[in-house]
Amino acid sequence: MTETYKALVANRQNGKLAVGFEQLSATEIGEGDVEVAVEYSTLNYKDGLAMADAIPIVQKDKLILGIDMAGTVVRSESTRFKVGDKVVLNGYGASETHNGGYTQRLRTNSEYLVKLPAGISTRQAMAIGTAGYTAMLSVMRLESMGVVPESGVVLVTGASGGVGTVAISLLSALGYRVTASTGRMDEAAFLKGLGANDVINREELSEPGEMLQSTRWAAAVDSCGSHTLANVLSQLHYSGVVTACGLAQGLDLPSNMMPFALRNVSLLGVDSVHAPMPLREQAWSRLAKDLDMAKLEALTVNIPFEDLPAAAGKILQGQIRGRAVVEIV
Ligand code: NDP
Repeated sequence: MTETYKALVANRQNGKLAVGFEQLSATEIGEGDVEVAVEYSTLNYKDGLAMADAIPIVQKDKLILGIDMAGTVVRSESTRFKVGDKVVLNGYGASETHNGGYTQRLRTNSEYLVKLPAGISTRQAMAIGTAGYTAMLSVMRLESMGVVPESGVVLVTGASGGVGTVAISLLSALGYRVTASTGRMDEAAFLKGLGANDVINREELSEPGEMLQSTRWAAAVDSCGSHTLANVLSQLHYSGVVTACGLAQGLDLPSNMMPFALRNVSLLGVDSVHAPMPLREQAWSRLAKDLDMAKLEALTVNIPFEDLPAAAGKILQGQIRGRAVVEIV
């Protein structure tokens, strides 16, 4: 009997996106020079957006969903990978223009794959996922601007989410004093367990504020955008730095010139999807070195493969704490 592989697939018909499980044949699992037996994937905010078709992420009529996967190479025509290698895929158009990670078997382009560093299992790689790898890219961006623990307090917004929880864990391990901003004050003890020194209610940041406010933060990792990011900019110390990767509050940025012109602040974009390979490899090796794997486990929840479509709505409503890992069985 011909082998088939279970996958969560998006089909667009008459403009509407239908999401459901299918058994795919070997010819339907993608194109490329490497084939991977997928072991784990994950649920990111962007996966939620893709499944809900909230913004146009899926750009083909039929596509395997999932922006991340980790697994073992089972076939390779690439000189970079051999059978048995453990690999991770983050973004690079997965679930946008070509097949993603919600599948037992994926054929893909070797240029999209990073070899997992020793010390990170495929499950841990997906507990990190795009959100955690983006948190690492954000911390590296702050470092590139000269931010060090002695600079002062670093704010993390969207603290209970994927980017937020991993950013707190990383910054704390690196010796920074961290303040977490959350809408879930009942998670304060959890956030402090990850390494936050202080926890504030996100309402302090989410409403329109003055152009310049009392300075509070040496740096910040923001995944919310909108008024949250505008207020963070207005509260940065002189020469403060904030990284911006996300839009959990909104796509807009209702800010002004004053923090830039009078306080010399910097706003740094962070994109994980098209990050060049050397930067990805650096980020993954930093994660292996700097992320406390016990904390990673503490911030991870397991979601069964079958429950992914239902969980998509939950992540969009901010109901998933930390990172969600999915065993592909
Ligand atoms: P999560 O859903 O895991 O976390 C987002 C967090 O934001 C929530 O947990 C919540 O934290 C907070 N939040 C939710 N709604 C609001 C709101 N209305 N106002 C203020 N805060 C809110 O998502 P991820 O961590 O996976 O991703 C975060 C963002 O970053 C998303 O927009 C995502 O698309 C983006 N992203 C971008 C990447 C890139 O390459 N540029 C890569 C990865 C993510 P709390 O309950 O603690 O307040």
